Amino acid sequence: MKVFVLNCGSSSLKYQLINMEGETVLAKGLVEKIGEKSSVLKHKALNKEEIKISEKIAAHNKAIKMVLDVLQDEKIGVIKNMDEISAVGHRVVHGGEKFSGSVLINDAVSEALRENIKLAPLHNPANLIGIEVSQKLMPDTPNVGVFDTAFHYSMPEQAFLYAVPYSWYKENGVRRYGFHGTSHKFVSERASELDGRNYEDLKIITCHLGNGASIAAIDKGRVVDTSMGLTPLEGLVMGTRSGDIDPGIIPYIMKERNLSIEDVDEVLNKESGVLGISGVSNDFRDLSEAAEAGSRKSELALEIFCRRVKKYIGSYTAVMGGVDIIVFTAGIGENAVEVREIILSDMEYFGICLDKEKNKCRGEEIKISKEESAVKVYVIPTNEELVIARETKK
Ligand code: AMP
Repeated sequence: MKVFVLNCGSSSLKYQLINMEGETVLAKGLVEKIGEKSSVLKHKALNKEEIKISEKIAAHNKAIKMVLDVLQDEKIGVIKNMDEISAVGHRVVHGGEKFSGSVLINDAVSEALRENIKLAPLHNPANLIGIEVSQKLMPDTPNVGVFDTAFHYSMPEQAFLYAVPYSWYKENGVRRYGFHGTSHKFVSERASELDGRNYEDLKIITCHLGNGASIAAIDKGRVVDTSMGLTPLEGLVMGTRSGDIDPGIIPYIMKERNLSIEDVDEVLNKESGVLGISGVSNDFRDLSEAAEAGSRKSELALEIFCRRVKKYIGSYTAVMGGVDIIVFTAGIGENAVEVREIILSDMEYFGICLDKEKNKCRGEEIKISKEESAVKVYVIPTNEELVIARETKK
């Protein structure tokens, strides 16, 4: 069975074709700058050179058609025709309260996804376009929606409700939903496998630290808290997003700087985080370089980022009454050696003893805690596409 995994963003799309027998990635790639003059398709098939096609790709339907053509290409293709694709798995960012798990897409589901657009105006419209284009190009192939929010569905009310009028929740859907669910699910399950312990017996904290960053507390296989909220703006400091701030800042700064709601939304999402503090970059490689070259604000941005993660680890340990395993994943979590070291320093009190030598690793699956550490710490590269493919197969 071959599953085509599609992750449509507003101006980009990522894809993989996975053979579920052996879970082999037959081909993968991405299309960037859809709708702009210089769009580009980068495609890599198993055992073949990467190819690049640069031309204007006006819309997602053309992008998906191009990808399907490349997959069937006589020379570099990996399938003979589209009938070989048994199903398409779509990443859908916001499932709202309707979807506690993955779902076979039909008209009613599409309608429900459209209703969720107001909760994720940047993401869900693109995800829906991906679904509609697949339905048109492959009318006989089933489509499955896999939600970023679904894994967090198990959170108790104490975790998902905000202390605002209850009617905001009931009438307007204001609650914590959480994101990056497929990643938190993948790395927490993998950690229990690597550790040789039963998933249902463990208290796990997963730190998904990428350009978007979130952290989750998973007790006996169920998410009991997570840092992102109604939107992916809450929680950790991110590349360009502020994470937690005093909500009182918003009316204050609107008056002080004569800003509109849209202005503030833009600044908090795109001009804040480590970029906002450092004024240098949202990329941790640039920040480390700048800090080494003497940029105090870059150093400060890194310190503030790490301190926030540490605070969440502490609070989730308190909420769960302990922690057995901590996992680091995504671009920063998998690669930024010094970030992991700063976060986990001086945490022996919590039973966390980092092995600084083992921590000097990038992008590999490895235990980085000392043997005597009561809490085991792992770096596990995430694989959201594989989770989507597995869910689609199921
Ligand atoms: P993601 O959103 O998971 O793709 O993560 C992207 C982010 O990971 C980049 O913006 C960088 O900040 C960070 N990153 C990637 N590679 C490295 C590296 N080798 N060292 C430090 N940070 C990295």
